[in-house]
Amino acid sequence: MRIAVINAGSSSLKFKLFDMQTKKVLQEELIEHIGEEGARFFSHHDALESIDVDFSSIDAIGHRVVHGGEIFKESVIVDGEVLFAIESLNPLAPLHNPANVEGIRVAQSKAPKTVQVAVFDTTFHTSMPKEAYIYALPHELYEEHKIRRYGFHGTSHSYVSKEAAKKLGQSLDSLNLITLHLGNGASVCAIENGKSIDTSMGFTPLEGLVMGSRCGDIDPAIVLYMQREMGLSVDEVDRVLNKKSGLLGICDINDVRTILEREDESAKLAIKMLVRRVQKYIGAYMALLGRVDALVFTGGIGENSEYIRESILESPLFRDMEVLVIKTDEELEIANECVKLLKNEG
Ligand code: ADP
Repeated sequence: MRIAVINAGSSSLKFKLFDMQTKKVLQEELIEHIGEEGARFFSHHDALESIDVDFSSIDAIGHRVVHGGEIFKESVIVDGEVLFAIESLNPLAPLHNPANVEGIRVAQSKAPKTVQVAVFDTTFHTSMPKEAYIYALPHELYEEHKIRRYGFHGTSHSYVSKEAAKKLGQSLDSLNLITLHLGNGASVCAIENGKSIDTSMGFTPLEGLVMGSRCGDIDPAIVLYMQREMGLSVDEVDRVLNKKSGLLGICDINDVRTILEREDESAKLAIKMLVRRVQKYIGAYMALLGRVDALVFTGGIGENSEYIRESILESPLFRDMEVLVIKTDEELEIANECVKLLKNEG
């Protein structure tokens, strides 16, 4: 069985083709700067058109979709109704979902007979209890505007939790894990008996850890202060919080590998802040879970930086923890979801 995976961002398109018998990647393409001035490709359509692949030999195309809202509690085969429902979630993920929908449309036009599957970053977290996903805000904000914690990186947390179960030789539904996806974007997930019960990203991917350029948890009154006292517009505040904060805000660089090579105080401070925030979340999730069978590190930082892992694990509270480092593979997880759906159909 051959499964293609498409991850369409606002100006990029990642394409991977898997042979599912061997789980080998047969073809991989990354096209960036789509639609930007002077770029090779004007649209996602042009970009996909440029990929030399015989779509008639592919059994399904899996698409990463960032936001499934409260509608999608699992991956789905795309039809007109599904596409309409994904589009209805655009206000919740204005930068991501429209690009994901565009990716699906383009793939449909290139391969009209091929099954298209949507796999959402949010579905893994739909098992969270209400006390985890409701904010302490007036309840109408949830009821009328769907303001709640959704959580993201779900395909990654799901993939590494399954791999952790394999490594530990236990069934996932008997395991309590804390999975740490530490990349440029970063999130922690508390997993009880194989299911997400809490996660650090929230209504958007902005909440939680100190990330490459996102601030993570801050006092929300800072937002009001920036608007009232500093006269920043909504878009300016958005840019500050999402693009100019985090490690970049503290030491002017968002790349951890480069920051670790520096000796200056602001670089040291940035790393200390990243580590401390992760430690606080692990401690909180240990309290929620009671028993933790393993801490699982993944993402570019989690997989590669022994220094960061060891700094986090310096807390005496984590001394006897089982620690696993697992390379995430979100595309393979999406491809696996496609196989599952095709078999159910079948
Ligand atoms: P994204 O969220 O963009 O997918 P990645 O998961 O690729 O991000 O993680 C990127 C981060 O991982 C960067 O901060 C990079 O510096 C860091 N990283 C990668 N390799 C190493 C390494 N060997 N040591 C420290 N940090 C690393």
